[in-house]
Amino acid sequence: MPDATSKRKGGDGRLTTAIDPHDQGPQDACGVFGVWAPGEDVAKLTYFGLYALQHRGQESAGIAVSNGRQILVYKDMGLVSQVFDESTLDSLKGHLAIGHSRYSTTGASTWHNAQPTFRPTADGSIALGHNGNLINTHELREMVQALPGPAGELEIRGVEGATNDTSLVTALLAHHPDTSLEQRALEVLPQLRGAYCFVWMNEHTLYAARDPQGIRPLVLGRLDRGWVVASEDAALATIGASVVREVEPGEMIVIDENGLRSHKFAEPARKGCVFEYVYLARPDATISGRNVHEARVEMGRRLAREFPVDADLVMPVPESGTPAASGYAAESGIPFGQGFVKNAYVGRTFIQPSQTLRQLGIRLKLNALEHMIRGKRIVVVDDSIVRGNTQRAQVRMLREAGALEVHVRISSPPVKWPCFYGIDFATRAELIANGLTPEEIAASVGADTLGYISLEGMIEATDQPADSLCQACFTGQYPIELPDESLLGKHLLEATLQSPTMGRALPVLNNP
Ligand code: SF4
Repeated sequence: MPDATSKRKGGDGRLTTAIDPHDQGPQDACGVFGVWAPGEDVAKLTYFGLYALQHRGQESAGIAVSNGRQILVYKDMGLVSQVFDESTLDSLKGHLAIGHSRYSTTGASTWHNAQPTFRPTADGSIALGHNGNLINTHELREMVQALPGPAGELEIRGVEGATNDTSLVTALLAHHPDTSLEQRALEVLPQLRGAYCFVWMNEHTLYAARDPQGIRPLVLGRLDRGWVVASEDAALATIGASVVREVEPGEMIVIDENGLRSHKFAEPARKGCVFEYVYLARPDATISGRNVHEARVEMGRRLAREFPVDADLVMPVPESGTPAASGYAAESGIPFGQGFVKNAYVGRTFIQPSQTLRQLGIRLKLNALEHMIRGKRIVVVDDSIVRGNTQRAQVRMLREAGALEVHVRISSPPVKWPCFYGIDFATRAELIANGLTPEEIAASVGADTLGYISLEGMIEATDQPADSLCQACFTGQYPIELPDESLLGKHLLEATLQSPTMGRALPVLNNP
């Protein structure tokens, strides 16, 4: 059992950390999965569902299973494949399960903040997983503190010592002494602000809900003998489930032995995250009817029209830049090829090279293919630029491999604003596009030219109406009004709570 409180950093599976772990690209905010299927091995279905959603969160993973009498939760730091083995999954028996893979947005990356969260209730217990990030955490904390019974403060600290928005929601849902969990959820959900796709369960019932803006994706699927919900439809395909439909913005779904019930708890006001199309979702996902791979190829085509250049080779930064690079090549007529090789086992180590080793040029995840690059004018396509250090290192690698010219093309507009709805970019001051023009950024990263797709071009490639998309990290127009800056931030609750007693390293929480 690893130290439950250790902080493992890096190893997020993104190419960009290979070169500079201090210049990580956008980090996603969790994958969620839930299944109600009596007679099926729900723990293994959840494991494979999470495996398909691993790109959405790589800091910790967990599964909760109910056999109708009790809920077992198993969670730990690390990748899904590191947290679970055959014998652990065999011990998780039941007819109903939820799973979670986490990247932290509110609350540090610790075991105590890993999900599913767990709380006893008056008539059993609940477990919950969350994709997204709430922006009224301060209000939720006050609501939890105002709960009757044991001091709210104790309730916040809870048995797990969690310091995240999700645990506050769990505490609010768990408090339903005089009503059902279903009814309690219909009271609590309209009071949440921000981005959320929740899956949760008690001993008998699976629940799922999506915020009224539908910022993060959530889909409903069908098995021969049950139902599934997942962040992306690729997770349904992985376990052989068919897609039924998206969970609608403002909808709560309830699944039990009586079948499926749907509640509309808020008027939908769709503002889906445009960055899901650019980078976050798997290319085989379909969001609001638009296949993500097709959208990315189209972004590359538009980029080629907006920023053409004479060159000999179009190459992607693998894997995220590949669809856009193929679109750029197809539109421009310039041959497409691989100029970088990615280590297939990225994300499987948490060990980062020391600064000295880095300076010696150790490249964990990426190498240049010299015979593809030498003597050529290169167009290199990536999805986004955050701080710029990564692109600087890539351009240098290409020049060292003999590139005559390096033209950088980016399939999203300049990222100038932070995200408060579940994606961790960087602070405003750290974003390179904030102080510099594209020409100055090109000079800073050492590129001959740099072209970002236009906002309009990116949006049109998604096939969605512009007013149904959140574009805040590009425009600064936040669709859900933000509270004062002092009430936002990843460590909001750590800053106001004392640390709980450490040492609860047991991975299984058993509700007797
Ligand atoms: S701010 Fe950007 S990353 Fe965040 S939800 Fe909006 S579009 Fe997505």
